[in-house]
Amino acid sequence: MRSSDGTVHIIGAGVAGLAAAVRLAGARKVAVHEAALVPGGRCRSYFDHTSGMLIDNGTHILMSGNHAARSFAEAIGSAAGLWSPAEAEFPFVDLASKARWTLRFNDGRMPWWVFDKDRRVPDTSVADYLPLARLAWVTADRPIGEVTNCSGPIYERLLEPLLLAALNIEPREGSAKLAAALLRETLALGGKACRPLLAQNGIGNVFVEPAVAHLRRRGVSVTLQDELIGLQFANGRVAQLQFADRVETLGGDDAVILAVPPYVAKKLLPDLTVPTAFRGIVNAHFRTDPPAGTPPMLGVINGTVEWIFALPGRMSVTISSADRLFQMPREELAQTIWNEVAAVTGLSATLPPMQIVRERRATFAATPEQNALRPKAETAWTNLFLAGDWTATGLPATLESAVRSGHRAADLVGERVRAAA
Ligand SMILES: Cc1cc2nc3c(=O)[nH]c(=O)nc-3n(C[C@H](O)[C@H](O)[C@H](O)COP(=O)(O)OP(=O)(O)OC[C@H]3O[C@@H](n4cnc5c(N)ncnc54)[C@H](O)[C@@H]3O)c2cc1C
Repeated sequence: MRSSDGTVHIIGAGVAGLAAAVRLAGARKVAVHEAALVPGGRCRSYFDHTSGMLIDNGTHILMSGNHAARSFAEAIGSAAGLWSPAEAEFPFVDLASKARWTLRFNDGRMPWWVFDKDRRVPDTSVADYLPLARLAWVTADRPIGEVTNCSGPIYERLLEPLLLAALNIEPREGSAKLAAALLRETLALGGKACRPLLAQNGIGNVFVEPAVAHLRRRGVSVTLQDELIGLQFANGRVAQLQFADRVETLGGDDAVILAVPPYVAKKLLPDLTVPTAFRGIVNAHFRTDPPAGTPPMLGVINGTVEWIFALPGRMSVTISSADRLFQMPREELAQTIWNEVAAVTGLSATLPPMQIVRERRATFAATPEQNALRPKAETAWTNLFLAGDWTATGLPATLESAVRSGHRAADLVGERVRAAA
């Protein structure tokens, strides 16, 4: 088979690949090839027959400062599927002390909330917040534990929950540079950038299915169960794509965006440097109506549970950097988690219908060492570009990173075409 009409082949229909495809659709002929039965990669929703619910592989949280992810949702017409509170507020409960409080960031850049004891973290003073500014403007990449004090109320009740969720790693060993990027794009911009955004009816219904429908309406082929197994090179370019069932020979105008996970990219391009260590995430979904008054998103301190989400007909729990829980028997883990949810919400301790999703390689391990292994979008081959949350976006491995990487790869394809013209 020969494609010589300036086709951009996008390998991988995760959010990075879909974002690249949406950016290019209309301007170029685009073909998306996805190995799995379904698109979405690490960001997907599906009907779980065991619990009888539509669930997400992981309850995804965005922040209102995630401008690329939001613009992607707007481009595919699904932004209305993201719920957000009117204000940037985060209710918390401490399971040890039973204390409850709500962090309330004010909208503007000037952090007035720090001066208001009803808005800031309990048992803190204004001076406790100064180290946050230092962390936000760190230059060399070192473990967060070497840059800021990882103890005391400001750490336990603000930095740790925020960084654990965003970096998916025990913050002490996490990359200070990635933490800094996060702080600069959220807290430093004020509450307008800190409102949480939550897909109440499935993350796939915001970022995946609408993207695929949008692409197909624009004549882009999105082919599932279409695994790329090899690349052939000639004259500094990708010359052939080897799929499981065929070989496609590329023409001079064709380009390739490889938007696969790092361990797949490494198999296809053995000389590529990629992150090699990962961290898992556990999500638990319980089929029950959340009691009236339960906040849509509740941070939990001093528990196994880290975040509780109250969604229509379901309560979900997220635990980041959760590798320690991967060996625990499913029922025992579910009951451990549910006991905490019941304690916080007043629901009965009897386990409702549930599902546990353990994603082993949820994100690359966000240490300084692994962060340094992230490759740029450009490669040694003139028509091959990389995308994925693990490429060198400067952000933690998040939807925002995935979308930005897809946009960057798409823009590079455009630039190369203009340069060749
Ligand atoms: C449980 C969990 C919770 C998360 N929570 C959050 C959150 O709250 N907020 C947030 O912003 N982010 C969150 N993330 C991270 C977010 O999901 C990822 O950053 C994002 O989905 C990564 O997208 P991607 O396209 O870079 O990679 P992937 O989703 O890994 O996509 C790669 C795609 O390539 C396909 N592929 C692989 N090999 C081949 C091949 N040979 N040929 C063709 N196709 C191939 C794969 O099947 C996959 O579809 C979470 C992730 C997980 C797992």
